[in-house]
Amino acid sequence: MVIHYYHEHSNHIGVMHVLSLMRDKFWAIKGNAAVRRVLSRCIRCRRAHGKVIEQLMADLPPDRMELGKPPFYCNGVNLFGPFFVKRGRAQIKHWGVIFTCLNMRAIHLEEASNLKSDSFISVFRRFLARCGQVKTVRCDCGTNIVESRKVLDSSYEFLVENKVPNELPRCWVEFIFNPPGASHFAGAWEQLIGTVRRVPDIVIGTQQLDY
Ligand SMILES: [Zn+2]
Repeated sequence: MVIHYYHEHSNHIGVMHVLSLMRDKFWAIKGNAAVRRVLSRCIRCRRAHGKVIEQLMADLPPDRMELGKPPFYCNGVNLFGPFFVKRGRAQIKHWGVIFTCLNMRAIHLEEASNLKSDSFISVFRRFLARCGQVKTVRCDCGTNIVESRKVLDSSYEFLVENKVPNELPRCWVEFIFNPPGASHFAGAWEQLIGTVRRVPDIVIGTQQLDY
């Protein structure tokens, strides 16, 4: 009761302070431990300073663990920006596109001139031309990527229906979309965007660059 009294009347202050206030009048045997024990049970202190339980992490998705595959076999993709670019006297926006290999975390950077699906498809074609066989691409539900997937799917089906194939099944790329609003699903490449952005942010600063 004495410890409680001093603790509450000093507005829930810490162990050593309570001990020193108390020692003006009382000498508690094994005081330190006693104060600690009482304070550890104080509900208001536990609410204010208690340790939060850590979130359990789910298993990594299987494509983070595709060992022995070529680089960029399983990817994450995201857009970042915009970067302001000078065209004549106008100022237009350009976006960066980052592809990340989910195994070895290599990155491939591209540039998108707008947020439309045709621009993304061009980016994706340039990426495939350089980095070869791709199995999966993970991304968020950006409208340009969702739209691009539809276009790619329908053109793929068209080619299969018209018997162009043989080589085609190897070109099939599976898009896996993260749930909307779950940006923590994309931690692997959001982190790398931060790293990529750091350099131009410092080097370019507020300068205006042309294309
Ligand atoms: Zn307290």
